[in-house]
Amino acid sequence: MIYYGKQNISEEDIKAVEAVLRSDFLTQGPAIERFERSVAKYCGAKYAVAVCNATAALHIACLSAGLKAGDILWTSPITFVASANCGRYCGADVDFVDIDEKTYNMSVEALEEKLCRARKENKLPKVVIPVHLAGQSCDMARIKDLSEEYGFTIIEDASHAVGADYRDTKVGCCAFSEMTVFSFHPVKIVTTGEGGMVLTNRREIYENLKIYRSHGITRDPARMTHESDGAWYYQQITLGCNYRMTDIQAALGASQMTRLDAFVARRRELAARYNALLHDLPFVTPYVMEGANPSWHIYVVRIIPDRIGKTKQQIFEEMKEQGIVLNLHYIPVHRQPYYEKLGFRQGDFPASEKYYEEAFTLPLYYDLTDDEQDRIVGALKKALGIS
Ligand SMILES: *Cc1c(COP(=O)(O)O)cnc(C)c1O
Repeated sequence: MIYYGKQNISEEDIKAVEAVLRSDFLTQGPAIERFERSVAKYCGAKYAVAVCNATAALHIACLSAGLKAGDILWTSPITFVASANCGRYCGADVDFVDIDEKTYNMSVEALEEKLCRARKENKLPKVVIPVHLAGQSCDMARIKDLSEEYGFTIIEDASHAVGADYRDTKVGCCAFSEMTVFSFHPVKIVTTGEGGMVLTNRREIYENLKIYRSHGITRDPARMTHESDGAWYYQQITLGCNYRMTDIQAALGASQMTRLDAFVARRRELAARYNALLHDLPFVTPYVMEGANPSWHIYVVRIIPDRIGKTKQQIFEEMKEQGIVLNLHYIPVHRQPYYEKLGFRQGDFPASEKYYEEAFTLPLYYDLTDDEQDRIVGALKKALGIS
């Protein structure tokens, strides 16, 4: 069976994890900072805070942005539910901005229009979370301009985009946002088993992220309400979580980071091969925006319904019979029962809903061979009755 994603674990990765297991620290040890520094340095950001997963990273990023009950968070409907749920964890209201029909990322035009309306209704968002779908950066320069005009905080959900480039910067450099979040789940580009990270260039945000990561506790005398009682002393100054990453995971992550460029290079090669192999088929292949060079976490195609005599369900089943498991990223978040209970309806975000009707994800990962990729395309042709 070929699945849509798969991790790559090297002998060096295993040795790095083993070294931690033989060391004094399984958590809160030196591997964490090593991993944080490797990602921050790679991306060109000043600070990084590793946590147990990207969902936790999004949560503490929202907390650090001051998001609370009565505030509003906007994100894209075409994302994993975590990009929206982080707002709900903070008690904020969540709303969505429809996608661009070409990139499938949050539409900047739709964002601008919605902001203009929201200003009149006094319902501007405090936080906007653009999601770099498939590892293609959103048009961050334009979103940043809007953030200055309308006064919201940008948190990039770059769960798909470690290693991606945007306008001569690495995604994660935070030149266009307050914070950027990465995921290190095994299907993502770099893995720690479970893991996430928040990057930022702002010192005070960095300090707050660390406090939210660990129970709201500080050992910094400057942040305490009175002088320290002694060497054992700490204070809980706010309500935080235990979202720490273990050193075992961090060692794996740091080891994986040394291969990030190779991971992305191969993913780009495979994406280019798909583009060529699918050229004559009745699919819309991915559109890459000027200034973006995606890291290709996933490869999404859209069927052209009037040119295909089959439903997407049929294609999925016929592919599975041939040993290939397709996927779909994503079910529009506003169509989830939890969000429908909050008042969202079918028809609210038509471009996202149309995307959902037509899109699916082909397997793409570092270890996928050219032969396997040819087999996938062959199976697809067979499923469509093209030979
Ligand atoms: C994977 C993913 C997340 C959540 O990541 P976890 O590390 O599994 O918590 C959030 N947003 C997007 C877009 C993702 O793809």
